[in-house]
Amino acid sequence: MKITLKDGSILEYAEAKTAADITRDISMGLFRNATACKIDGAVSDLRTVIDGDCALEVLTFDDEDGKRTYNHTASHIMAQAVKRLYPDAKLTIGPAIENGFYYDFDVENTFSPEDLDKIEAEMKNIIKENLELERFELPAPEAIALMESKNEPYKVELIKEHADKGEAISFYKQGEFTELCAGPHVFKTGQIKHNAFKLISNNAAYWRGDSKGKALQRIYGIAFPKKEQLDEYLRKLEEAKMRDHRKLGHDLELFMTDELVGKGMPMFLPKGYTLWRILEDYIRDKEIKSGYQHVLTPCVGTVDLYKTSGHWEHYQNNMFPAMEVEDETYVLRPMNCPHHMRIYANTRHSYRNLPVRIGEIAHDFRFEASGTLKGIERGRHFCQNDAHLFVTPEQIKDEFAKVVDLIFETYKDFGITDYRCVLSLRDPADTEKYHQDDEMWDTAENALREVLNDLDLDYTEEIGEAAFYGPKLDVNVKPAVGAEYTLSTCQLDFCLPAKFNLTYIDKDNTAHTPVVLHRAILGSLDRFMAYLIEETMGAFPTWLAPVQVKFLPIADRHQDYAREMMEKLEAAGVRCELDDRSEKIGFKIRSAQMEKIPYMILVGDKDIEANTISVRSRKNGDEGATSIDEFVARIKNEIEEKAK
Ligand SMILES: [Zn+2]
Ligand SMILES: [Zn+2]
Repeated sequence: MKITLKDGSILEYAEAKTAADITRDISMGLFRNATACKIDGAVSDLRTVIDGDCALEVLTFDDEDGKRTYNHTASHIMAQAVKRLYPDAKLTIGPAIENGFYYDFDVENTFSPEDLDKIEAEMKNIIKENLELERFELPAPEAIALMESKNEPYKVELIKEHADKGEAISFYKQGEFTELCAGPHVFKTGQIKHNAFKLISNNAAYWRGDSKGKALQRIYGIAFPKKEQLDEYLRKLEEAKMRDHRKLGHDLELFMTDELVGKGMPMFLPKGYTLWRILEDYIRDKEIKSGYQHVLTPCVGTVDLYKTSGHWEHYQNNMFPAMEVEDETYVLRPMNCPHHMRIYANTRHSYRNLPVRIGEIAHDFRFEASGTLKGIERGRHFCQNDAHLFVTPEQIKDEFAKVVDLIFETYKDFGITDYRCVLSLRDPADTEKYHQDDEMWDTAENALREVLNDLDLDYTEEIGEAAFYGPKLDVNVKPAVGAEYTLSTCQLDFCLPAKFNLTYIDKDNTAHTPVVLHRAILGSLDRFMAYLIEETMGAFPTWLAPVQVKFLPIADRHQDYAREMMEKLEAAGVRCELDDRSEKIGFKIRSAQMEKIPYMILVGDKDIEANTISVRSRKNGDEGATSIDEFVARIKNEIEEKAK
């Protein structure tokens, strides 16, 4: 038989061999790092006997599936350790995930941090014992009998399901521990590095993810082949925790969530709303200068409105259920495009008054599963920096270019430099998704491409990523922690205007359908705020800081003078606070530092005598005495310049 390797070379064998044996023939070094393989593209166990021609790819921790195999073996080791320490624990499932692995146990008590330490220690023993993992298969009745004998009811339930689907029932056994598992796995527990794994956390979970089902305890862990990799991972995890907008949002009193109000329904507190308002004012003013007109539309629409737009048919799973009142059925809106279509239709349009640009900071509601909610980054309510541009086909290029300019002017003001432009195009072969009008698609796609080229922007093209209604530009940002996400978007739409029978009268006096550009610059304001919080760790540049200056009188007798100085700053539009607590100055400084305020102004006897203030900046620390007028000029300039 002929085995084709990844580099194209071919190994020939006269008789059947395991993938492991073939790997050994390739190189012993590769064999030592191998965790699994792909046989003709399918992830397989190295124990698999190969008896015919195939393509073989050996996987190590550096491959996504190889990494999963490694972590999945670590998960078995964890389950074995739990069974040794807590024999009454019932096993459920324990897969590898994107980052590490977890295992759900049915146990009487919640695991404490000390329990996790004990489990880790026992895992180290199991690794030291270097137990062999043996794979075997059983017919369903015997498999059920085996798991019944071990008193594992969840496994019995799973086996019955696999058997119903006609799947083979396979197990992996290591020492006294036997696990229902499809694999693949490494050969010995000793292959998991004893000092490069960690149990990260534990929380409640439910059998089959059903909150009405049996409550379980889930333990998360992660395993690496090298200790340095674990250290690096833990360092990043620590940083992510420090940057987490939910923690900072709470500490800096920006927003709160409240179960009584509702899951995924964050509420902005005065400081958070101040920042929110700055963002809203910023982008609205910018849009007004760019010829946008703003509107205000309600958070609900009738189901008929969403049937007309097509959302009811295609987007219903992401919407809250409808509510009936009198003879109408309403739905909380997931997006406000249909409202804006109706606003356009309210007036007669001619080519002379196009483009029409309708903007709104629109409150939208989407149903997100509770497990995916994340502070203000992903809520069930959010505000979209939305706009719809109604244009003639000839105006597409110009309007698109203006949107792109608006995006990058905004990024400059916010200091956003780490972004990636993606031009999403149709897949001409996918006639199911994309409506058939090659000329229209080609014109539109070329228009967008030309604009990006003219602006000399770096971008990648992704075929088949366009929405069914037209091509789009996405600008993705890479946050300090977490995955890349789409911040700004501009999408061409040839379908929606027709669904709403929108028209304009063209030069030839006949009615034509306008093209719509859906665009968002700051995206969802809520999510943008989460992004800003995590990027700056709450130390916002002065122009964005909810409190820009905090006055700290050294003693109570300096309060009147502090108030007098503060009024001058406030008259200049600077956001100030006074710490009038009778506390030591060191304590007040530390608390202003915790609040990450850009400037502290200390006033004492010397300042009153010399008619000065003493400035402490977040950037430079103690800057010494200056006059209030000089400071007003300096901070006003800094705010106007939107200094970083
Ligand atoms: Zn398994
Ligand atoms: Zn839209």
